[in-house]
Amino acid sequence: MEKTDCRQKSIDMFCYQCSQTANGTGCTVRGVCGKVPTVAKLLDNLIFIIKGISAYLYHARELGFTDPEIDGFLEKAFYSTFTNVNFDAGSYVQLAVEAGQMNIRAMKLLKKAYIDTYGEPIPVKVQTGIFKGRGIIVTGHGLKALEHLLKQTEGMGINVYTHSEMLPAHGYPGLKKYKHLVGNIGKAWFDQKKIFSQYPMAILATSNCALIPKDDYKDRMFTTGPVRLPDVKHIDNYDFAPVIEKAKSLPELEESKGDVVFTTGFSKSVIMSLAGKIKELVTSGKIRHFFLIGGCDSPIGKGEYYREFAQKLPKDTIILTLACGKYRINDLDLGDIEGIPRLIDLGQCNDSIVAIEIAAALSELFGVEINKLPLTLVLSWTEQKAVAILWSLLSLGIKGIYLGPILPAWVNEDILKVLQDNYDIKLISEPEKDIKEILP
Ligand code: SF4
Ligand code: SF4
Repeated sequence: MEKTDCRQKSIDMFCYQCSQTANGTGCTVRGVCGKVPTVAKLLDNLIFIIKGISAYLYHARELGFTDPEIDGFLEKAFYSTFTNVNFDAGSYVQLAVEAGQMNIRAMKLLKKAYIDTYGEPIPVKVQTGIFKGRGIIVTGHGLKALEHLLKQTEGMGINVYTHSEMLPAHGYPGLKKYKHLVGNIGKAWFDQKKIFSQYPMAILATSNCALIPKDDYKDRMFTTGPVRLPDVKHIDNYDFAPVIEKAKSLPELEESKGDVVFTTGFSKSVIMSLAGKIKELVTSGKIRHFFLIGGCDSPIGKGEYYREFAQKLPKDTIILTLACGKYRINDLDLGDIEGIPRLIDLGQCNDSIVAIEIAAALSELFGVEINKLPLTLVLSWTEQKAVAILWSLLSLGIKGIYLGPILPAWVNEDILKVLQDNYDIKLISEPEKDIKEILP
């Protein structure tokens, strides 16, 4: 596997969680307790998965959904990372696989919470750009915060826009019904400073992937839920009166609609209602291969790989996409194959469970195990939800995943060998080369 500069500069380990830590600053070569670098990295990996699971559990609990079995696992997993408890690398790999399974439970729980609360998404067209009038931009992943804001702004003549990962909110009947949820602006999370500076609207950050604001808009930005930003007012209990007052105090915007209209909201039911047609098209060779292209996008230059990859795919392929990695490709007009869109947006990173359930349903439809399906996952990762999802996929035995834009820094040679030997993980290289490898 090709190495990156980032990997070559990676440190062996870093741990400063107990009083024995080397020189009172940190164990960086080997633990004073005897912990070896591979164990330290696997321990970090487990903590990253736990963080990812926690994000899903947080949003599920907001809507009144909990799962004591996952909570019990989290206690066990956290405890295993305590000083002088577990020095066994193999058991940390096992715990990571178990955490991947728990993450599947957590994602299912959250999806159930969303569907029970807001209905199952339906495909919807979402206009980009600006509508005339005052507005509020909502960023993050928090549907409950968005729902409360929509209720509190109803009939006030204030337009509400989704930014980035909030785009799939438009597909939920319980949110779509609010006519002043007008459209979507911006792309992946890292364009916030540019977009929020550009449009003089109030801004509400509802979850992770919130950036420390620039001075020019921090007085019109607000946080809620787990988010806190320096010099930004925080709102508890979903009482968004200060956001609304701020929006009212700002000038009206002139209409400036974008050229792109996104389609989002493809739920499992919608896809599986097309099962007969999909089977016919695959059997007749009109659909040759499915790709899942998406994940957590990052500003690393190599991110352009995903767009190029999608553009270079032959026309007899279907692309499923999700999470903010979709913004690399969701403006592409890829057409359809006899009515089946070639680009299908399944939703947020929180909706990764939909992709897993569709893969399982296709496996049943074609009577083959998932690894024998004409399906390849080409994923990007940035943060800890992506790590959790990766281990969920590995826990299902899914092999041959293409991962980018860089190999995670917690992967050293020993861990890489496990990932390659057991799961045939590949690091993305060049789009043409990888496509040729997948579709010889
Ligand atoms: S737990 Fe071990 S590796 Fe970590 S700081 Fe203590 S002695 Fe060092
Ligand atoms: S997909 Fe990942 S990187 Fe993108 S906004 Fe969601 S959590 Fe953040």
